[in-house]
Amino acid sequence: MPQNLEKPVLNTLSKDQAKERKLSVMENIYLPEIFKGMWYTFKQMFKPKFTMMYPEERWDPPAIFRGRPVLVKDNGKERCVACGLCARACPPLAISMQANEDAEDPKERYPDFFEINMLRCIYCGLCEEVCPEEAIVMSKDYDITFTSREEAVYDKEKLLIPKEDLVDRLEYLREYKNRQFGQFWDFQEENNIHSVRNRDKRWETSLSLVEMLEEKQRQEKSLNA
Ligand code: SF4
Ligand code: SF4
Repeated sequence: MPQNLEKPVLNTLSKDQAKERKLSVMENIYLPEIFKGMWYTFKQMFKPKFTMMYPEERWDPPAIFRGRPVLVKDNGKERCVACGLCARACPPLAISMQANEDAEDPKERYPDFFEINMLRCIYCGLCEEVCPEEAIVMSKDYDITFTSREEAVYDKEKLLIPKEDLVDRLEYLREYKNRQFGQFWDFQEENNIHSVRNRDKRWETSLSLVEMLEEKQRQEKSLNA
């Protein structure tokens, strides 16, 4: 059916306006309504307050609170073994890292650098959920400010927090999230192998993987010489 553009379209709101309640004389004067509002405000002054004088007064959130993600520092070292699972699970790709091997103990890996872009982080907690070492956890820190994009990228120095300061969250995780932790297997120090270096020599060559690679490099060098 062709639309009659000459006739204005009926606004549904204008129909509802007809149903609006008519104000009484007192309401039309406004003053009684203003005093009613002031009386209500006055009564609230004597009720308990839930607001705080931030930043002088600070809120201590419960353990379930998900503040900024931090790395756990255990006996002066990061727990993180740079497996990369958190970076893989992070939906907005906020985490980046580079793994390295410990010079003193080549079985151990650690993150050479570990960064979280706090402009991207959505505080979902997935990094904490997937971490096999309880090395990254959601802290109580909600006071996050920066004045440039560069400042918003938190490095290891900003991320590492001693485990003693994260007791609440670690306890909460054990109690409510990782209940299976330590129940089905006993932690063995020798299981904690994070690289192929120094593994048992089970190859036909009786060389470890690293030795095989070194041997290959030696052969290539001698060929090129
Ligand atoms: S809390 Fe979520 S968004 Fe933030 S770093 Fe962890 S996985 Fe990424
Ligand atoms: S998942 Fe845990 S151990 Fe693996 S890289 Fe992330 S913080 Fe480190």
